[in-house]
Amino acid sequence: MQTMPLLEVRDLKTHFFLDEGTVRAVDGVSFDIRSGVVLGVVGESGCGKSVLARSIMRIVRPPGRTIEGRITYDRGMRRGAAGDFVDLAQMPIDGSEIRDIRGSEITMIFQEPMVSFSPVHTIGFQIIEGILQHETDISKDEARNRAVEILRRVGIPNPESRIDQYPFSLSGGMRQRCMIAMALASDPNLLIADEPTTALDVTTQAQILELMAELQREFGMAMMLITHNLGVVAQMAEEVIVMYLGKIVEWTDIDTLFDDPKHPYTAELLKSIPRLRREGQAERLTAIAGSVPSPYVRPSGCPFHPRCPQAVAGLCDVREPELVQVGERHVVSCLLYSDGASNGAAEMETE
Ligand code: SF4
Repeated sequence: MQTMPLLEVRDLKTHFFLDEGTVRAVDGVSFDIRSGVVLGVVGESGCGKSVLARSIMRIVRPPGRTIEGRITYDRGMRRGAAGDFVDLAQMPIDGSEIRDIRGSEITMIFQEPMVSFSPVHTIGFQIIEGILQHETDISKDEARNRAVEILRRVGIPNPESRIDQYPFSLSGGMRQRCMIAMALASDPNLLIADEPTTALDVTTQAQILELMAELQREFGMAMMLITHNLGVVAQMAEEVIVMYLGKIVEWTDIDTLFDDPKHPYTAELLKSIPRLRREGQAERLTAIAGSVPSPYVRPSGCPFHPRCPQAVAGLCDVREPELVQVGERHVVSCLLYSDGASNGAAEMETE
């Protein structure tokens, strides 16, 4: 991996302080996103992937708070002069610098666009407002023309008139296309897509994924694609991180993840997805044993040990594994690989 990532996350912790207890939603996460690369983030519901995205965007609100860690972002890459680093984790969540970056250099697509769009403003108003907020040297007419063009690019038919429609008058697929248009209008360095197709029917899902892949290549931006669907990751991502209970358990390239998964949780996830097989080669799908523990009561030792088919009694329930390197561009957090291994995140960083 190259030494200068677009975004470098180190030991990030975002916790929620509730009356019932503390939820360690993101608990010491380290990874990089390189410029122009699609990074998939997978894991079951509640593993912390959406909170991780919101932590990077600095939109986690109380009772949640990022309490530790660094999110080093290279603003210089936007101007073709890499090396202008800022730490997003140190920025006040409503400060002017993060507002300048958010929605312009780093943008986000959510699962359900209706909660992101204002229902009382037209699609066009919201896209134009986003453009004008970050670019003060263009006129309203120029911003409108750009909004029409980007709507056309994401496949909105007749964008000159659709731009004046309200979100509720569009179908789910069209709304998601408009959401993508809004996220791309500022030509971002990094697009974070949080389950962007989960709320859509299968046909529309395929169309939106194809569109996103096309636009990612065309705009050359990095993308962090959050999903519980390994099929989506296989189709879109070059690298993948697998999360469990707020931690990264495996981080590698997409081929290695599917061909040679090391972490027992990743292996179990892969066994639980259906694959097309020839007649007579039927294979029973397996579900991962047990269920995700209560967020208030984390298991001791390795957080996966109560469900792990390879757990070693007296070891896995006592010792917490660290992220270690197990191959080129491949790190894993499992005690089966710990002895003699080096620090994973650091190795991935410097390759
Ligand atoms: Fe399983 Fe032990 Fe590895 Fe955890 S550390 S994943 S319990 S083998």
